[in-house]
Amino acid sequence: MKNINCFKLIERVMENTLESILVTDARGRILQVNKAFTQITGYTEAEALGKTPALLRSERHPPSFYQAMWAEIGRQGSWAGEVWNRRKTGEIYLQWLSINAIEDEDDQVSHYVAISHDLSELRAKEAEVEFLAFNDPLTRLGNRQLLMNRLDQALAECRRRGDVLALMILDVGRLRPINDHFGMVAGDQVICTQAERLHLLVDSSDTLVRLQGDTFAVLRHSDAQVSAMSHLAEQIVRELSRGITLKDKSLLMRPSVGIALFPQDAMNKETLIQAAEHAHVQAKKSGRQGFQFFDHGQHQQQQRQMIIEQELTELFNGYKQPGLELYFQPKICLSKRCLCGAEALLRWNHPLLGWISPGEFIPIAEQTRLCVRLDRWVIRQALMHIREWLQAGYEVPTLAVNLSAHQLDQDDFADWLAAEVRREGLQPNVIQLEITEGAMIRNGEAATCLLGELQSRGFQISLDDFGTGYSSLSYLDSLPLNELKIDRSFLQRIDQDMRSLKLLRSIVVLAQTLDLQVVVEGVEEEHQIELLSELGDIKVQGFYFYRPLPEAEFARLINPHEEPRDQDSGVCPSS
Ligand code: C2E
Ligand code: MG
Ligand code: MG
Repeated sequence: MKNINCFKLIERVMENTLESILVTDARGRILQVNKAFTQITGYTEAEALGKTPALLRSERHPPSFYQAMWAEIGRQGSWAGEVWNRRKTGEIYLQWLSINAIEDEDDQVSHYVAISHDLSELRAKEAEVEFLAFNDPLTRLGNRQLLMNRLDQALAECRRRGDVLALMILDVGRLRPINDHFGMVAGDQVICTQAERLHLLVDSSDTLVRLQGDTFAVLRHSDAQVSAMSHLAEQIVRELSRGITLKDKSLLMRPSVGIALFPQDAMNKETLIQAAEHAHVQAKKSGRQGFQFFDHGQHQQQQRQMIIEQELTELFNGYKQPGLELYFQPKICLSKRCLCGAEALLRWNHPLLGWISPGEFIPIAEQTRLCVRLDRWVIRQALMHIREWLQAGYEVPTLAVNLSAHQLDQDDFADWLAAEVRREGLQPNVIQLEITEGAMIRNGEAATCLLGELQSRGFQISLDDFGTGYSSLSYLDSLPLNELKIDRSFLQRIDQDMRSLKLLRSIVVLAQTLDLQVVVEGVEEEHQIELLSELGDIKVQGFYFYRPLPEAEFARLINPHEEPRDQDSGVCPSS
C-alpha cells in the first residue's frame, strides 16, 4: 500500500512538472515521457516510446559533442548542459538538459533519465534586453547610446584617415498636434512610418537612430561631403513631407533637418552634436528649405547673445554694475547754436567682450525684461549726476533718459520716479523720458495713461525714433508729449529725395502747431545743417556737433567757468 502511494506520487510529480522528463532503458530506448515532454517537443507518448532520443537531434552539434556527453555519463554517471534540439514541427530550440544514469542492485546501468527545460523564451528575453540597450523599441532602429558608440568609433577613424564625418539631426515635424488630436498610438504610427521611409533612404553603412520623440539622427562616415549630404537631406525632406493618412485624414508633415560636419564645424563628439542640434533648430526656425547646414557665424552670434543675457542677469541680480557707464550727447538749439538738452546713453565696457553697443544689449535686455531694472539703474545714475552738477554750480540742461517698452507696463513707475527725484532733492522738470513709437503703441491705452500721469507730475515726455515705426501724424495730438524726435533715417532719406524734405517740413510745422519741441537726430554733415536751418526753431542732435561724451567731458561742457577747447564745436554752453 505504502509502495503504491509512492509510485502514484512520483507519477503525479512527473505529470505536473514543467520540465520535460524522458526515461530510457540501458540501450537508450524510450520507456516513458511526461506531459511536458509532449508540450515542448510536440511528440506524443505513443510516438516517442520505443525510439531513441536521437528523435530530437537538431544536427546543430557535431557527433563529437554527443560522444563527449556519453563519455562523461559513463565516467560520472551524469551530464548537464545546453543542447539544441528539434521539435516535431522542425523548429530548433535550446534546452537545458541533465542526464542521469540509474543503476540496479548489481551496479549496472539499467535506465537513463533525461530532464530538460526550454531555454528559448529566456534567451529571447535576454536578447531583447541586449537589443534595447542599443536600439529603440518602437521603431527597432538604433538609439542614442548606439549613436554615441558609433560616433566615438567614426571620429577616431576619421581623425586617423583625415576623412569627413557628417551628423544629421532631424525631426518629422508636427507630431505634437497629431498626438493631441489623434492620440499617442496614432503619433507612434506616424513615427514608425517616417522611420521606415528614412530607413529606405539612408545607406546601409549609415547609422540611423531615433533620439527621442520624433527626432532622428543619421551618422554618415563614407561620402559625407556637403554635396552628398545636401542630396540626402533633400531626399529626406521630400520623402518625409509626403502626407500620411490617419483615420481617413491626410496629414501634412513638415520635417526639418540640421547637418554638421567634422572637422569643419566641430572637432569632437559633444561639439559635433551641439552643432548638428543648432543647425536643426535653425532649420526649424527658418521653415523654408527644410534643411540647413551648421552656420558658424550665426552660432557665434547666438553664443554671444547668450553670454550677454547671462552677464546682464548677473549684473542686475548682484546689484553691481561694473563696466556700465552713462555717456551724454548734447542736443543743440539750431537757431541759437546753444546746448539746450542732453540725452543719457548707456555704455558697457565688458571685461572680456570689450565695448558692447546698447543697440546690441538693450534688445536682449528687453527680451528678458531685465530692461525694467536697467532703465531704473540709468535713471538713478542720471539723477545722481544732475545733483552733483548742480551742486558744482554747472548749467544743467534737461537730461533725457530712454525708457524701454516694458517700463510702461509697470504700475509703480510714476511713484517710483517721483520718489527718486525727491530723494535727490530735484524737481521733475530736470528729467525727460524718451519713449519710442513702437513701445507706446505696444502698450496702448495703459501707456498713454501712465505717460499722462508722468506729464502731469512735471516730467517731460519725448517721442523717440519718429519715422521708424507707424509714423502716424494723427495720434500726435492725442498723446501726452512735449517733444518729437525725428529719427536719423529720415535725414538720410532727405539726401536722396526732395519729397522727404517736404514731409519733414510738414511734420515740423504740425508738431510746432501742437506745441511740441522738435529734435532732428543724426545730424552729421554741414549741408544737413543748411537744409534744417530753414525749419525754424528746432533742436538737433548728432555727430556734427557732439558724439555721446563721457561724464567728465560733458561736465566740462556745462561748467560755465571752463574755457571752450579747440575741438569743441563752437556751441555756447547754456540753454
Ligand atoms: P536712441 O535713443 O535713438 O539714441 C540715439 C542713438 O543714435 C545713440 O546710439 C547715438 O549714439 C546715436 N547717434 C547720435 N547721433 C548720431 C549721428 O550723428 N550719427 C549716427 N550714426 N548715430 C548717432 P546708441 O548710444 O548706440 O544707442 C542706441 C539705442 O539704444 C538708443 O537709440 C536707445 O534706443 C537705446 N539706448 C541707449 N541707452 C539706453 C538706456 O540707457 N536705456 C534704454 N532703455 N535704451 C537705451
Ligand atoms: Mg533716445
Ligand atoms: Mg532715437
